Amino acid sequence: MRSKQILVFILVLLAAICFAEEKPVGYQVTELAKNLYKLTVDGGGYDVKVLAFVGDDGMLLVETGTKDYAENLKEVLHTLYPDEPAYIINSHQHVEHIGGNYIFDEKVIFIGYENLRTTLTSGANLFSEYPDELLPEMTFSEPITLYFNNEVINLIPVIDSHTDNDVIVWFTKSKVAYVGAVSNGNHFPSVDETGDVMKYKDNVQQLLDILPEDTQIIPGHGADGSMEDLRAFLNMLIDTEALVKQGLDDGKDLETMQEEDLLKGYESFESYTNKSLWIQYLQEAFQVKTELKEPIFEKLYLAMKAGGIDAAIEKYYELKEHQSDKYRFQEYDLFRIGYKLYDAEKYQESIDIFEMNIKEFPENNYNWLSYYNIGSAYEELKDVENAKMSYEKSLELKPVNSYAKKALEELVEKE
Ligand SMILES: [Zn+2]
Repeated sequence: MRSKQILVFILVLLAAICFAEEKPVGYQVTELAKNLYKLTVDGGGYDVKVLAFVGDDGMLLVETGTKDYAENLKEVLHTLYPDEPAYIINSHQHVEHIGGNYIFDEKVIFIGYENLRTTLTSGANLFSEYPDELLPEMTFSEPITLYFNNEVINLIPVIDSHTDNDVIVWFTKSKVAYVGAVSNGNHFPSVDETGDVMKYKDNVQQLLDILPEDTQIIPGHGADGSMEDLRAFLNMLIDTEALVKQGLDDGKDLETMQEEDLLKGYESFESYTNKSLWIQYLQEAFQVKTELKEPIFEKLYLAMKAGGIDAAIEKYYELKEHQSDKYRFQEYDLFRIGYKLYDAEKYQESIDIFEMNIKEFPENNYNWLSYYNIGSAYEELKDVENAKMSYEKSLELKPVNSYAKKALEELVEKE
């Protein structure tokens, strides 16, 4: 079940890659309610949002968007309020929600769900070496209320659906609820490795129970909506789950359900999770969970800290040879390490891990993406020849591949 869940993670990465290639246009400001602003930037496939709430007590932010637009975010915020924010709430762990944290003054107080600290400093995230000073300084595990700028702001955990550290932020007087990735507009959900497909319904029901009917619903990505939209989203979750359950009870396997187009009629919910993938999520969620082996992240990270990336690679093969009954060895874990190293600007290390992934899993459907990432890392290292070769290999494996095609064209243009 795990590897499939990471698939979506990879699809999210794809969007992130695409995003990195877009020409910067910057954050656009919309006023949602008095003194409460929504800042939106095009994420190349989905929009990325930041909320800014200003008043006598200062400025409060929800999210900080992506790293690439952090400078621009700061500039745009200055047009709304002259000083740095007092509080920043991060809805959950993903890069497009916390990417701009680094741009703010050290006096700002970061707020997040209690798990967020551990999530950002463990597992594959170890390799991104997220700075301590940007971790949440104020955490909570039960709903809390902030009294700020004459507003009553409720922070409510909605964990174990999208990730294990999601919170929503409800501006009660302004009648605005930022729901993060719990509902990405009216689309099939994306589910992180730490999330749970089956708990979505309960979380959405919880929101429907507590939010008044005239609340504006602001998802982290996708179109803003109403309570009516949230209800339609819940109905979709209930109905599609029932359809897949029925399919399984009728003895159908995943492929049959996908080929029969079991979710015909639900096209409007397709986005980066399409009908087939949503069937797959539900089908996997109904499977009996087998005993899970330990991931290799911590062992490899400690080896890398002690002896560099070669020592980490050596550790991988050592564990695989002697402890394969204890540790899991799957392509998506290596992929995640490679991506995190890239994020931490450790480009050569990132290349080494992606290459190892290709060598270890030559049949992986996403090797074109590994080659693409190797190409991007070589580009960062100003090694144009190897960058070109890697993009070409990516194209060879996946000829319909706008990422590698565009990257190659840009390389040629630069010459
Ligand atoms: Zn997310």
